Amino acid sequence: MLRSVILAASRSSRVERLVETAPYTRDVVRRFVAGTGTDDALRATRELVAEGLTVTLDHLGEDTVNPEQADATRDAYLTLLAALSAAGLTPAAEVSLKLSALGQMFDEQLAYENAQAICAAAAEAGTTVTLDMEDHTTTDSTLDVLAKLREDHPGTGAVLQAYLRRTESDCRDLAGAGSRVRLCKGAYREPESVAYQSAREVDKSYVRCMNILMSGDGYPMLATHDPRLIAIGEDRARWFDRGPDQFEFQMLYGIRPEEQTRLVGEGYTVRTYVPYGTQWYGYLMRRLAERPANLAFFGRALVSKK
Ligand SMILES: Cc1cc2nc3c(=O)[nH]c(=O)nc-3n(C[C@H](O)[C@H](O)[C@H](O)COP(=O)(O)OP(=O)(O)OC[C@H]3O[C@@H](n4cnc5c(N)ncnc54)[C@H](O)[C@@H]3O)c2cc1C
Repeated sequence: MLRSVILAASRSSRVERLVETAPYTRDVVRRFVAGTGTDDALRATRELVAEGLTVTLDHLGEDTVNPEQADATRDAYLTLLAALSAAGLTPAAEVSLKLSALGQMFDEQLAYENAQAICAAAAEAGTTVTLDMEDHTTTDSTLDVLAKLREDHPGTGAVLQAYLRRTESDCRDLAGAGSRVRLCKGAYREPESVAYQSAREVDKSYVRCMNILMSGDGYPMLATHDPRLIAIGEDRARWFDRGPDQFEFQMLYGIRPEEQTRLVGEGYTVRTYVPYGTQWYGYLMRRLAERPANLAFFGRALVSKK
């Protein structure tokens, strides 16, 4: 219920203005977002790589409504990739992008062309791209664009969301050799017709999907902070004899950082998803919806007089 209210607020421009202008919002944002510019992204990447982590960087922004905004997002990624390469941070760092930020809502071909330019720049920088997955109305379009991008850049990663009823079938389609697939629970508000609603059903689906990916020939990327699912992931890695270069764990910047370094210490590949940029509102609201304790933390910061 609370999750639905927060996710509804994530689409409200009135709440967005209220949150963005609140005096202590910045302290809360800093916990989940690396900063606003390319320099901040590089600094966070350097720190994480020094701890043995790998990184995927997300230039924040979504639901772009005109070609100029889409081009600006593409250019931000091109700048970022050139800077990562110059700093010697590839291939440890790759990038994650949302097709909606590249024009998918109004022109799928434009989004494809922008994503293609970013994939080409990533290849030149010696790294890869992963396409984030957004709400279920975009799944088919995103998987279509992924298939086209993979013709030239087979290492382009997909994201599949365990809460969607269709995802087991998508996992079977995408478990082939060389296919990089991030499996997450899913962060959007979705109707019962397309998505499991209870946490238990979502977790069970996650395990079924993980079994398909870990027993397949591709490269699974297990994106979760859930201790039980991480333990099952470790178990499946032993079961299917997958070493550290044959799958990875992924977690978000600022969430369970000790667990991220513990897994590195155990010899696993762990990738931290690092968002940066000025358009952090939608991202922050999805993180708050995931955990009521974060909401209390946020509420305290908003009313704090310090
Ligand atoms: C690397 C990565 C990439 C992702 N990409 C996408 C994507 O492309 N599309 C998409 O829809 N979703 C994406 N997600 C989000 C994902 O779908 C979930 O919403 C999110 O990961 C929370 O689910 P969970 O598996 O961590 O389990 P949960 O059951 O939500 O959490 C398990 C435990 O993790 C900790 N935890 C989880 N979330 C938080 C939080 N916000 N703050 C503090 N502690 C927390 C808590 O200890 C909690 O008990 C991504 C997640 C990760 C890690």
